[in-house]
Amino acid sequence: MGARKYIGRLQELPTPFYFYDMDLLRSTLATAVSEASRYGYRIHYALKANFDPRIVETIRQAGLGADCVSGNEVRAAIEAGFPAEGIVFAGVGKTDREIEYALGQDIFSFNCESAAEMEAINAVAERMGRRARVALRINPDVDPMTHRYISTGKADNKFGISYTEIDRVIASLKRLSHLEIVGLHFHVGSQIGCMEVFEHLCERVNAIRSWFRERGIVLRHLNMGGGLAVDYENPDREPIPDFAAYFAVFNRRLETEPGQTVHFELGRSLVGQCGDLVTRALYGKTTAARTQVVIVDAGMTDLIRPALYGARHRIENLTSSGKPRTYTVVGPICESSDTFATGIELPETSRGDLLAIRTAGAYGMAMASRYNLRDLPGAVYSDALPTGRQ
Ligand SMILES: *Cc1c(COP(=O)(O)O)cnc(C)c1O
Repeated sequence: MGARKYIGRLQELPTPFYFYDMDLLRSTLATAVSEASRYGYRIHYALKANFDPRIVETIRQAGLGADCVSGNEVRAAIEAGFPAEGIVFAGVGKTDREIEYALGQDIFSFNCESAAEMEAINAVAERMGRRARVALRINPDVDPMTHRYISTGKADNKFGISYTEIDRVIASLKRLSHLEIVGLHFHVGSQIGCMEVFEHLCERVNAIRSWFRERGIVLRHLNMGGGLAVDYENPDREPIPDFAAYFAVFNRRLETEPGQTVHFELGRSLVGQCGDLVTRALYGKTTAARTQVVIVDAGMTDLIRPALYGARHRIENLTSSGKPRTYTVVGPICESSDTFATGIELPETSRGDLLAIRTAGAYGMAMASRYNLRDLPGAVYSDALPTGRQ
């Protein structure tokens, strides 16, 4: 349903804004946590998907850990009250300052992405008189069969340590006395809806894991990353992603040793469906090619996914019940890529109508910018609505 359910109390608010269905967020979190706990799995929330303070606070209350990809995200997680022992820190380009900060906070582990980074973490740890817990992020060469910009686990991209390099990395560990290897980390991409991708990942991890065991290296933790998809086409069909099926794949396919803990880093699947971008129709026009265009007051600065990845979000007119028409929906930014949808059907849309761009809770607000010196969009929460007409 999204924002539609609350339309009476949203109508007078200044647009554009993100609307968050907090009940849906809480039930999504409860489902994910209960399905994961069947197998003793731990979930860390990927903060980069949405760092809205109320969202983050709700996730912390649900008992998840945090997955961070910058020093500022580690700081945000600490300040939001996530226990340090639940924080993991990934990213291919950690600076010495970021490493120093995270080490000072005694986070659970660094997901280490290259041989050179291991040297850097070791050097910082030595200087601080500490030992850094490190999980090696191995690039398993798994094709997530998703958009090339959100694929991270194929052999030729920048993420992780190449499996061809593992030998060299292991040899260097003897020298790097300020590192403690606590596990392995994998994250092959995002918006993965095909469970075979995760099965394939499990098989690769089984092989890599036994390789380590044969060399006498004990791994207490296996971190399988995130990437579970949400349904952008039909958000009301499956508002809560199928966490049961997702975790069952790992339970069935991933081989673990006694005492080994399995971790996940979920972002999109936890927060994607709880957020709608609510925007107002400003103008309509017809192009020379007879395309009917609706210009709305939200743009790529508020939600960049369509412009950046060609992503498609379902769009609904919340206030019109007119006859269906075919429209192209665009924003006001001075870029042709500032288009939310082409050739979609909406009830007849006119100036002042409220539109919801669905499934915008993940990588929406978090990627907003002030290009064109626009204001950042607001945030409205279903459990803290201004009182008004119902
Ligand atoms: C972005 C990211 C995630 C979360 O991915 P989702 O597709 O949002 O679940 C998990 N782990 C790492 C290392 C990431 O960079």
